[in-house]
Amino acid sequence: MRLVLVGPPGAGKGTQAAFLSAHYSIPHISTGDIFRANMKAGTPLGLEAKAFVDRGELVSDEITNAMVRARLEESDAENGFLLDGWPRNVSQAEVLRAIMAEKKTPLNAVLEFSIPSEEIIARLSSRMTCRECGKPAEAGSTNCPSDGGELYQREDDKAEVIARRLAVYEEQTAPIIHFYRTEGLLITVSAVGEVSEITHRAIDALSRVQ
Ligand code: AMP
Repeated sequence: MRLVLVGPPGAGKGTQAAFLSAHYSIPHISTGDIFRANMKAGTPLGLEAKAFVDRGELVSDEITNAMVRARLEESDAENGFLLDGWPRNVSQAEVLRAIMAEKKTPLNAVLEFSIPSEEIIARLSSRMTCRECGKPAEAGSTNCPSDGGELYQREDDKAEVIARRLAVYEEQTAPIIHFYRTEGLLITVSAVGEVSEITHRAIDALSRVQ
């Protein structure tokens, strides 16, 4: 299964990606997670990305595309992958189409999570993230439910940056929905409801394209 997840920040892509990657036994490739891991480790890539990530702006296509190209060359991505957070604009979507054409392995589907913007703002502004594993936790939790790690609020989950991320999504990422609809790859599911219910909806919708 070669799958792309699309949806605004806070739609729960990361949470659903973890379940879907386990269900289909494919690696979960999250560009946001790769940037944050590099920022935490202080690598040159992390230092370069930090100012953009902290402001809620997109890192340059040149850096991001090179990073994903390299990741897709790793052996675990040979039999499928789940991309979460890339492509995030039409130019990145064109790069993905070119990579898939070179490899002669077309995408199976692009899964869009739709959610009203009031719900996004409420979710993101109360979201805490684990310093150890990077998973999100509910507001009010004291430690990470998965590994007990310390929780913190991501710099880009602060109110002023959320507004910027939503604007960037509307301007730059939303156009890829039309791109993939035209390609006949788009499947849309509602991202409102219980986590397990949304996972079922996604698997059910994907079972029709396999
Ligand atoms: P996310 O965890 O997917 O919300 O990503 C966090 C941040 O990482 C974004 O706000 C961007 O600064 C950066 N980022 C992630 N994916 C991309 C991408 N495909 N292109 C450019 N920047 C990205």
